[in-house]
Amino acid sequence: MKLLEFEAKELFREEGIRVPRGLLVSEHEEILLHMNELGKKVVVKAQVDVGGRGKAGGVLMADASNVVETARHLFHTPIKGVPVPRVLIEERLAIEHEYYVSIAIDRSAKQPVILFADVGGVEIEGTAKKNPDAIRKITFSPLLSDVPNFLLRELTGNVPDGVREMINKLYHVFCKKDALLAEINPLVTTPEGVYAADAKLIIDDNALARQGIAVNRDLSEREREAEKHGFSYVELGGTIGVIGNGAGLTMSTLDLIEYYHGRAANFLDVGGGADQERVMHAVRLVASMPGVTVIVVNLLGGITRCDEVAKGIIAADVTPTVIVRMAGTNEEEGRRLLAEHGYRMLESMDAAVKTALEVAA
Ligand code: GDP
Ligand code: MN
Repeated sequence: MKLLEFEAKELFREEGIRVPRGLLVSEHEEILLHMNELGKKVVVKAQVDVGGRGKAGGVLMADASNVVETARHLFHTPIKGVPVPRVLIEERLAIEHEYYVSIAIDRSAKQPVILFADVGGVEIEGTAKKNPDAIRKITFSPLLSDVPNFLLRELTGNVPDGVREMINKLYHVFCKKDALLAEINPLVTTPEGVYAADAKLIIDDNALARQGIAVNRDLSEREREAEKHGFSYVELGGTIGVIGNGAGLTMSTLDLIEYYHGRAANFLDVGGGADQERVMHAVRLVASMPGVTVIVVNLLGGITRCDEVAKGIIAADVTPTVIVRMAGTNEEEGRRLLAEHGYRMLESMDAAVKTALEVAA
């Protein structure tokens, strides 16, 4: 789960990482009452989960004379299409230098990895492409509770000690919070010392219970429906609906769609031994997604019987075109039923996916 900036900064602060003083506000709150605490110059920051937020207009400079208008502007201007329910108003730092630091797990090394650049800020992605050598990295044993000092020096070169101290504290946050990613961009030096001007923290979903973070149960209507029937279901935003049995076969179907440059609308695994009823619910569920014009049903008949699947598809009777690929138990009967009702059943998943793409085009 990716935390928003203000949530991440709260956790950073607990670990002794210096962050700017700030005020979190929703619309219609009295901002001016608090301006004395923040100082004359402030930064107004949209609290949305959007990459490149600053460049997209989500980070604005203001002062006491226009902070209210500036905040109001953000509340009424979606950032890359994402509405802004809250803004963080922070004291504006007198930045001397911007650094970039990011901590993650290097899966192949099975070790924590820290990336650092002494050119941080909103251009970091361009830097990574144009001048990859500017980003240095270290990996070290996950058994250590601190980043080894000699490696930190190797990583950072000639920087104030406070920068290295902050990176070590960020590593403490990374470990304590079961993070997949902990990032500060920019980490800044100012006449008042070193600050985390921005904060990014992604917590491992498998650790949410241990971290006491409520899992976001904001399910959509369709997700609730899927849960009711025990389907593994994820929406992906494309136009080609996908139904399979078994996570592997369903994933392979997604891969093939991607391979032929299509966009899958979802992942739906009906599970083992799906009967007519379950298949019908699955087909109707996927057909109810806006934008879905075609559905690929890719099933292996084992305990699941192909004739049952065929009956489920026919009973669902949905508007999108249903393209079927089935093999196994009672395949012939399934094929006969489908043909009788005008459905196309193809011999291979390759053919099924190609046909689906033609229909969707
Ligand atoms: P992002 O675009 O979502 O990464 O937003 P950031 O919080 O990183 O802010 C974007 C940029 O705004 C930073 O790289 C800084 O250059 C600038 N910025 C943010 N906070 C301050 C501040 O307190 N003072 C000054 N002078 N610039 C800031
Ligand atoms: Mn940033």
